[in-house]
Amino acid sequence: MEERGIVVEVIDIVPPILKNNVIVVKVDQLFKWAHANSIWPLSSGLACCAIEMMSCAAARFDLSRFGYEVFRPCPRQADLLIVAGTLTWKMTPPLIRLYEEMPEPKYVIAMGSCAIGGGPFADSYSVVPGIHEVLPVDVYIPGCPPRPEALIDGMLKLREKIMHPERVEEERKARLMEA
Ligand code: SF4
Repeated sequence: MEERGIVVEVIDIVPPILKNNVIVVKVDQLFKWAHANSIWPLSSGLACCAIEMMSCAAARFDLSRFGYEVFRPCPRQADLLIVAGTLTWKMTPPLIRLYEEMPEPKYVIAMGSCAIGGGPFADSYSVVPGIHEVLPVDVYIPGCPPRPEALIDGMLKLREKIMHPERVEEERKARLMEA
């Protein structure tokens, strides 16, 4: 209520002539909006799913429509790790190092059935049976491979999660209650 009171006070000092042209918003909402609409993914791929990820940024699917096409070669400039492909135990330390070099806040997408649960190699001694074993995952995208539209949908889900974390938490709790 107190916050609402502050907003009302600010609105009251806007001259009537500008009232229809001024948007009053909290700074953290503005930051969330800017962050959620300009995610910079790390340029990294592990296997065939990475080809679908690359095609996302090309002309046909045009990820730049959503502001997400700035794939960064350096983890220090990225805030999203898309794990696209089969993760082996041997490759796990470098991947974790890349994740740790990314600045906060940072997010992880598990793209494809290999990243989610080992895929067709789930029984192999060398394959990680799901990247949740080694990294905190924000969004899972099923498929072998998922189509580029599915990755775009997953990134839009991530946008929702960044902008409305409380809504996502409520949905998660509701699903847990149903289970
Ligand atoms: S999920 Fe399928 S397409 Fe993706 S990396 Fe695994 S085997 Fe390849």
